Amino acid sequence: METERLYEQDSHLIRWEATVLACEAVIDGYRVVLDRTAFFPEGGGQLSDGGVMGKVRVLETHEKEGHIYHFTKEPVPVGAAVECRLDWPRRLDHMQQHTGEHILSWAFWNLYGVENVGFHMGQELVTIDLSRPVTQEEMDAAEELANRNIWEDHPVRCYTASPEEAAKLTLRKKTEKVAGDLRIVEIEDGDICTCCGTHANRTGEVGLVKILRQEHTKGGSRVVFLCGGRALGDYRQKNRVTMEAGAALSVKETYIPDGIRRLKGELAAQGAALREKGRMLTDLIARDLLAAAPAPGRMGRVILTCQPDLDAKEAKLLLNRLVETPGIAAVLLYRVPGKEGAEGRVCYLLGKAPDSPADCKYLCEILNGLYNGKGGGKANFAQGSGRLLPNWQETAGALYKLL
Ligand SMILES: [Zn+2]
Repeated sequence: METERLYEQDSHLIRWEATVLACEAVIDGYRVVLDRTAFFPEGGGQLSDGGVMGKVRVLETHEKEGHIYHFTKEPVPVGAAVECRLDWPRRLDHMQQHTGEHILSWAFWNLYGVENVGFHMGQELVTIDLSRPVTQEEMDAAEELANRNIWEDHPVRCYTASPEEAAKLTLRKKTEKVAGDLRIVEIEDGDICTCCGTHANRTGEVGLVKILRQEHTKGGSRVVFLCGGRALGDYRQKNRVTMEAGAALSVKETYIPDGIRRLKGELAAQGAALREKGRMLTDLIARDLLAAAPAPGRMGRVILTCQPDLDAKEAKLLLNRLVETPGIAAVLLYRVPGKEGAEGRVCYLLGKAPDSPADCKYLCEILNGLYNGKGGGKANFAQGSGRLLPNWQETAGALYKLL
């Protein structure tokens, strides 16, 4: 069931007639073999083609043990002649990324002798692995050379060569294959290497190569880039984001980093002022609570207070202020509102001055019971949290009887 590989002869063939040689049911659909195909099976880092055969959609194309399988949802009759049509935008995208990869890899190799040791084309991003990390200046220069090669619109030739003929060529990259003819891809004034994929007819078809970033890998580097339509889409999205960010900050796009730094500075100053106000507030609350502290009971002088307006930091600050006073123990409750309709929590902090006879751990266990909560600690400090009941402040009053 040898299939003639039309994509090797003409990467721009979009419509062709073929005969169905086999169609067998597999998980989730069928796999079809044709006598001739321009659907490229995934390989050499390039993604697979899709399209239609007759009225049936071809979702993916894969090669296994020399056979090319077309994956479909519906069956096609064996022996039928079908008109096939390639999903051209998908193929063009793959050819732009793939040919662009040749050009960018050549640029790194040509300028710095840095070799491409791996290539990956995903649905969104494309990467090449280089034999060593490159500097920003090297990336800029390689990108510049690659784009110049594209704008000069050089022809891209694909042909087969015998091993003897191939040995005379200065190939950037050679397949591991040792016997038989090799498929050579040659770009005028540019890349030359062995490759099984589909390529643009001229470099101009690639449109643009844009490096996004470099990621450091073990002993080398991974360069993330986009070509053609993907690069345009990325530019469009980034342009929209920068315009929105500029408008939100009321600055020109080039001043966005300055605008963000300014905002962060203002935010830090406001945060510091807020913390100072919080400290002053807790000092005032502490003064009032200490002035009204109850007479000593069986656990000494214990201040029990609910503070619905304090946050966790302020509550901790207040507790520390209260227990600085000799003989004082404090039980402080505050609340943490629930996010997105979830029930909030009531939180409790318990502490005491070193000379207080109170037992914070014991009192915390009582609160756990009152609020169906969890928490614990030691005699001098304990904390916990429980259900935020609507009457959480009144509930705490039950503790008075024990103090
Ligand atoms: Zn190629």
